[in-house]
Amino acid sequence: MSSKGKVYFHTLGCRVNQYETDAARELFISSGYQSTTDVFEADICVINTCTVTGEADRKSRQSLRSVARYKPDAVVVAMGCASEMADGVVDADIVLGTRDKKDIVKRVEEFILTREKDLKHSSSHSRPELTKKDEYHDFGTIISPEGSRAFMKIQDGCNNFCTFCIIPFARGRIASRSRENIVEEARNLAASGFKEIIVSGIEVCSYGADRGEGIESLLAVLNDIASVEGIERIRLGSLEPSSLTPYFIDGMGKIGKMCPHFHLSLQSGSDTVLKRMNRKYDTALYMEKVKLLRGQFPTMKLTTDIIVGFPGETDEEFNETLEFVEKCGIDKVHVFPYSIRKGTKAAGMIQVDGLVKKQRGEILRNLSEDRECMYAKSLVGKVREVLIEAKYEEHYSGYTEDYVQAIVYPEDGEELNIGSVVKVIAEDSMYAAVICKVL
Ligand code: SF4
Repeated sequence: MSSKGKVYFHTLGCRVNQYETDAARELFISSGYQSTTDVFEADICVINTCTVTGEADRKSRQSLRSVARYKPDAVVVAMGCASEMADGVVDADIVLGTRDKKDIVKRVEEFILTREKDLKHSSSHSRPELTKKDEYHDFGTIISPEGSRAFMKIQDGCNNFCTFCIIPFARGRIASRSRENIVEEARNLAASGFKEIIVSGIEVCSYGADRGEGIESLLAVLNDIASVEGIERIRLGSLEPSSLTPYFIDGMGKIGKMCPHFHLSLQSGSDTVLKRMNRKYDTALYMEKVKLLRGQFPTMKLTTDIIVGFPGETDEEFNETLEFVEKCGIDKVHVFPYSIRKGTKAAGMIQVDGLVKKQRGEILRNLSEDRECMYAKSLVGKVREVLIEAKYEEHYSGYTEDYVQAIVYPEDGEELNIGSVVKVIAEDSMYAAVICKVL
């Protein structure tokens, strides 16, 4: 079948966006288009935008401007959270909200038709209604995403309304995907050779809450995925500490395929800041959940997100965060300097000076780098399994089950398959990575 055209994709933001880009690519391919990584040969450019921070918003606008400038003849599509929330003009021919993404191919083809007939094209999308229960807007099942690890989205939206966060306004209320669709996608992925699935969502722990179910329904989904032949590793997206129960953590331990790497959202190590953020836990509860996780996964790598310079954050509160990171044994922190998101409660609070935010960001980033290097060093002499993702002249690279980058040297030039899982021993560490030999 001849190709209808080439489509270039660029993704900003989180794993959910990555998944949705894969889903959009799949829709184009199944409709007769080809995917390209070269923007200059593209007929259609899809930019999947993000608005979680002011910086993400800026980069999203910049990406749209760049493709419009370098590829003036291409159809430019803006999708994702920033396009959903955009008030003014968006530099794109088509703007898709978070609800109408599944119509992407239809919208592009309508646009091309109206453009050829020189008709006026209208680009509109509907905003989520926050007062209403939402439904899960399924993109269909993905068969073969790019890369060696597959992201799988199991829910959308969030009901938490943390005071800094714009996401519930962009994504709407919690909506969970059906277990049947999840299992079907896991089977497709396994049949395409994927060994690792990263279970993602906007607020993964709330899976099933829209159906009145508790976190046991997330456990059931993890068990469903684990039962699919060929899937060897399951990694979980960001977890909300207050949702974790001993039953759930115990259950994860029994699955046997869960990666011992957990991203437990913290946002601040100061109880007073957590309160102002409207988070549903304090540091004592967070610590308790970390202990429970370590009880099941003693060698786990613990990563988190922290916002620095949240409105009103004092030096004492920031120091509490630094102390808590060490006390809790957090191995890596994704640091976000607070940025005002219009329409959120925190936007109206007293703001921290920009320079102070920058300095705090640097201090926390340095601490995180040290801790991540320490974790990699602690693996030296230990056996791990690496999912091979790329081949270089003399070595391969991939990630261990505890999410440490591994540089892998096979014995006697042995060929390793991309996408395979190999047993290795870590012989040395280099910054946050480990140098390994295949066993
Ligand atoms: S839990 Fe809070 S930070 Fe996370 S998406 Fe929901 S509102 Fe945003």
